[in-house]
Amino acid sequence: MVTVNVKCPHCGKSLMDKKRLIDSKPSIAVKLTYAGKRAMLYLSSVYGSYKVETEIDVPKSKIAGFRCPHCDGDLKSTRKCDICNAQMVAFDLKEGGQVQICSRRGCKKHIVEFENPKTELEAFYKSYIKAYGD
Ligand SMILES: [Zn+2]
Ligand SMILES: [Zn+2]
Repeated sequence: MVTVNVKCPHCGKSLMDKKRLIDSKPSIAVKLTYAGKRAMLYLSSVYGSYKVETEIDVPKSKIAGFRCPHCDGDLKSTRKCDICNAQMVAFDLKEGGQVQICSRRGCKKHIVEFENPKTELEAFYKSYIKAYGD
């Protein structure tokens, strides 16, 4: 089971809630805004799981707003969903990189971009080139 560990791209504070478990793992806790209402939204941190818990019932196919519970920063990304054209929501991965999810309820589009595999690959190429340069 692969889990993601995310933080706010604005204030850098962890968005993980160790008390609220989903799929028996700490959940990702964000503020959800919809039709003038605000509530907490808990997302599963398990990669590939779409389980969520919230008090606001966002109807399927409606777009909700996502904010950081610490700094109230808007988590909206500059990227648009290539399936439904809604704005994506971005979280920073603790290990580097980003995970983005679609803000439209029911849309399963999400993107995960890891920084580390690329860095490791670069390190590999550098050592490879170095070995040949010596
Ligand atoms: Zn924040
Ligand atoms: Zn979408």
